[in-house]
Amino acid sequence: MFCSSLRIKALNELFYWAHKRGDQPIAEQLGFDVGAIEKRLQALEKRVFIENGELPTSVCDIQSRVEEFKNKLQSVEHLSWLGLFKDISSGTSLQPFWDKKALQRNSDHDRKIREKYLRMSQVQITDEVRQYLRKPTFDNWQWDDPEMLVLLQQMYIDLGILTKFNIELPVLQNWLFEIYRNYNPVPFHNFKHCFMVAQMMYGLTWLIDLPNKVDDIDVLILITSAICHDLDHPGYNNAYQVSYLPLNT
Ligand SMILES: [Zn+2]
Repeated sequence: MFCSSLRIKALNELFYWAHKRGDQPIAEQLGFDVGAIEKRLQALEKRVFIENGELPTSVCDIQSRVEEFKNKLQSVEHLSWLGLFKDISSGTSLQPFWDKKALQRNSDHDRKIREKYLRMSQVQITDEVRQYLRKPTFDNWQWDDPEMLVLLQQMYIDLGILTKFNIELPVLQNWLFEIYRNYNPVPFHNFKHCFMVAQMMYGLTWLIDLPNKVDDIDVLILITSAICHDLDHPGYNNAYQVSYLPLNT
């Protein structure tokens, strides 16, 4: 039943896109009345759900997993990734869930990111994106690593930092890439997190017109600190780090 519902959905999609693309003549040539077929499919789909009654096991399984995750989220007092991934109901195990050694960044991957970043740097960012980047409501999730590097670079350019401090673009690019290289691929304190924090700092800078209120060096320090703030973070939480300090320190 579930599969036939999927098939109906797929057919629906097909006709929808045929409509959108203006393929009506082809349908007509084949003797189809697309509108009527769509209606029929919708009616069939409704029937499938009504007759089927209960949800398929796979959907129920996903639902219960979401529920379980939601409960876990709500019970974690401090939003630590250790808490999210481990069962902390019987106390913290203080074992790292993240094996840094096993997830060393691969140099070939880094080289490709650097190449793409430099290639993209040659293209002018649109004014629309530059203005959007200045907003605290900027959506961070849709950008990949090279794009985030380009956007960080644009922040320095648009704050006038390159001209004010006589920094050459290739120097900034090398530095940004080293920053990227030194964020570990851990679940939370990774390069995406670096970008998010820096972007929020950048958004607030424009929101409160900071460049006209503090010295240029202060703006440079703020944005640079935001970018560097979690460099080489190992992905463990404070409890783990403190308990594993060598005894003689
Ligand atoms: Zn952080």
